[in-house]
Amino acid sequence: MPALERSLKTEAVVIRHAEMGEADRLLTLFSRDAGIIRAVAKGVRRIHSKKAGHLEPFTRVSLMLARSHELWIVTQAVALDLYLPLHEDLILTGETAYVLELIDRFSYEEGENRNLYRLLIDTLERLSRGDPVFTAVHYFELHLLDQVGFRPQLFNCVRCKEEIQPQDQFFSAVQGGAVCPKCGHQVPDARPITMESLKYLRNFQRTTYPRLVQSVPSPLVEREVESILQYYNTFLLERRLNTPGFLNEVRKKREA
Ligand SMILES: [Zn+2]
Repeated sequence: MPALERSLKTEAVVIRHAEMGEADRLLTLFSRDAGIIRAVAKGVRRIHSKKAGHLEPFTRVSLMLARSHELWIVTQAVALDLYLPLHEDLILTGETAYVLELIDRFSYEEGENRNLYRLLIDTLERLSRGDPVFTAVHYFELHLLDQVGFRPQLFNCVRCKEEIQPQDQFFSAVQGGAVCPKCGHQVPDARPITMESLKYLRNFQRTTYPRLVQSVPSPLVEREVESILQYYNTFLLERRLNTPGFLNEVRKKREA
């Protein structure tokens, strides 16, 4: 988006807000047309503010924004979807906060990614209507990793490149994917993963959501998939924090 743009009409999901001055809020939004945006909502903490109810976290909102100096100011806000069930159940609230946290940390300020926006609102809709949380959240996670350039390699060993055989394997965050049993001990950060869990991770990459939602993972698979993804995301995000502009470089390389 050109830096000189004076106004913007878009829709967005409110990630969070912070109090600002006497009556204002600073919003962090993930928008359809400009990725992450920070914008000021003036006067929303006043009792009679009409905008306030439309700008709560987790809400999908239609927005008019105007640029004032370096800041975006919200001039109009109309809620499109409140996703009420996400506020009414502690587990769903926690999972939604996790999804939005990943969006915030993996995406770019004012960098458009419509596919990622679509994926986000599909995920909020799925969680709201009571789909299995494990499937909705990890489908989101694997597809987010695709969108931001960190799709894990799960079909060939990341070290020797040989096709993964149907047996227990290893996973390396540093190398970005599956490591075969022969190479497992040569890769310092490799962690064991059962074939069943690896299959599940692959299915998140290649199976359509309506088919995935019909399968029920075992508790072991749930635990393993969660722990491997958490390990991988933590590694990626720490590396990003240590290396400013790292994600931008990766994206440029992908586009080249
Ligand atoms: Zn290997």
